Amino acid sequence: MSHITETFNASILDKMKKFYQDNQLSPTPQGAIFRAKTEDATITAYRSGKVLFQGKNPDVEARIWQEFRGDSPAKVAKGRNSQENKDLSFLTGNHIGSDESGTGDYFGPVTSCAVYVQKDQMQQLKDMGIQDSKAIPDDKIKVLSKQLVQMGIPYSLMVLKNEKYNSLQKKGWSQGKMKAMLHHSTIDQLQRKLGFPAEAIVIDQFCLPAVYNNYLKSEDLKLHPHTHFLTKAETHSIAVAAASVIARASFLKEMDALSQDAGFNLLKGASQKVDQLAAKMIKAKGEASLNTFAKVHFANTNKAKKYL
Ligand code: MG
Repeated sequence: MSHITETFNASILDKMKKFYQDNQLSPTPQGAIFRAKTEDATITAYRSGKVLFQGKNPDVEARIWQEFRGDSPAKVAKGRNSQENKDLSFLTGNHIGSDESGTGDYFGPVTSCAVYVQKDQMQQLKDMGIQDSKAIPDDKIKVLSKQLVQMGIPYSLMVLKNEKYNSLQKKGWSQGKMKAMLHHSTIDQLQRKLGFPAEAIVIDQFCLPAVYNNYLKSEDLKLHPHTHFLTKAETHSIAVAAASVIARASFLKEMDALSQDAGFNLLKGASQKVDQLAAKMIKAKGEASLNTFAKVHFANTNKAKKYL
């Protein structure tokens, strides 16, 4: 058991109190605002602004609030490394992994996939060459994804098409919220397919777990039990790696179909070449047509106008 003491201002203490409202313990010690207990730590916040994190993994909870306080990236990164000290034994047992693709690409949808991998399949997947999709060339991605589907690995896949993406964005949804909802929905769908809740769930972390939780809360959803957030999860979890492969293959397939529809070979990424292509499309089909093919709130839309 170890502990961390930190000092926070009143506004963060207020956020903390709300965040831990379902985990609060009573009575609170003298001078304390609240005391709460999570899987990783017991958190005691004092009126002075001092907060004591103690337990198995106090750094996991402390890190959330250090980021809120605006610690330097270096300091936060140092905290992040403590992920290595965390008990990651769930990675070698049956678990669900989820990942998404297309969030950094101006053209094309966002795809999201959750995969359930059993302990005795892990070696086979590694031998097949399943790893982080970013490390695999596109043509190989398509082959590997097909192989995963053919071997009957349980998975769930969702495609958030551009029209829907753009309408959610106009409604005020951040891309982070869309991602959180996609992860949540694919995991949900997969567990229903399985007929039982998975032993563990690993999400490739794209935002603070606290923020992810708030996205879910805003839609009256609750985090699935046994969910773990890991940065660079596709390098730690074979299930996340498999999910990254299927999600990327689906993104590539969607891009091929959209290119057919557009009559232009749509480019991946969000580079200057993408701006120029968007300009060509505006000239040929009108700006409104981008709604079907692109994430129109990206800066590329305005940059494209310079080329008109
Ligand atoms: Mg990811």
